[in-house]
Amino acid sequence: MGFFSEQNIVITGGTRGIGAAISRAFLEQGAAVVATYCRNQEAAQAFKQSCGAAGERLVLEQFDVADSAAVAAFFTRYEQQFGVLHVLVNNSGIRRDALVAMMEQEQWSSVLRTNLDGTYYMCRGAIPLMLSGRYGRVINIGSVGGKMGLPGQANYAASKAGQVALAKSLSREVAKKKITVNTVLPGFIQTELLADLPADLVAQYKKDIPMKRFGQVEEVASAVLFLASREASYITGSTLEISGGL
Ligand code: NDP
Repeated sequence: MGFFSEQNIVITGGTRGIGAAISRAFLEQGAAVVATYCRNQEAAQAFKQSCGAAGERLVLEQFDVADSAAVAAFFTRYEQQFGVLHVLVNNSGIRRDALVAMMEQEQWSSVLRTNLDGTYYMCRGAIPLMLSGRYGRVINIGSVGGKMGLPGQANYAASKAGQVALAKSLSREVAKKKITVNTVLPGFIQTELLADLPADLVAQYKKDIPMKRFGQVEEVASAVLFLASREASYITGSTLEISGGL
């Protein structure tokens, strides 16, 4: 038994980094979890193994969130297996940093396709499954970068700001149906996504963070579980920063 037993959860990019911590936290609270990934099958299998007995309630799904047909096919499979959906976490995301003047079209487009189009495709598939149960929680994993902007990350920041705007609009469309839509905005969180940052830049970023450290994946997961809870019933269209005070 747990706070989310008898609930079905879908988490994109749910097998590594922040997404894996969110999947694990829901599993610990009794949920049935579908964690998706794109390419890294090895990491996905290792994650399932690490879940022990709770892994029996974990289903792995491989597809690219930027591929609208693949997302639609996923929701067809999902509906046949699970029927209703209670919580969708749009977590999958990528960075392809470059200064705007030097940014290749593909660097811009791939980030927008994965981070923003992917969020739209997943919401489009999930909302009908929530409407039929007259209950739902959608949580986007945005970024403080979408508010602040960072040099070299115009594509990433634009995609993350877009997720907030999408969530705010969608929240108004479904509010009467007891479906809430919110976005969490992590700051710098210790994952492989930041593995390529040069050491001097990491030191500079840590100096700028009031808490003087990067966040842990579990610190994002606990905020997501709160927004996904029944108790968060009057919070919608909002953003929650998890950034150590940035
Ligand atoms: P990781 O790089 O550690 O993990 C990313 C996950 O997304 C992986 O599971 C990956 O799958 C999946 N993914 C990537 N592209 C696709 C795709 N096209 N289709 C489906 N799944 C895909 O990232 P983090 O855990 O650090 O980040 C998770 C989210 O949090 C992202 O949206 C990121 O922008 C956001 N965020 C992260 C911050 C940080 O400091 N780490 C700060 C602010 C926001 P696979 O394993 O197959 O590669």
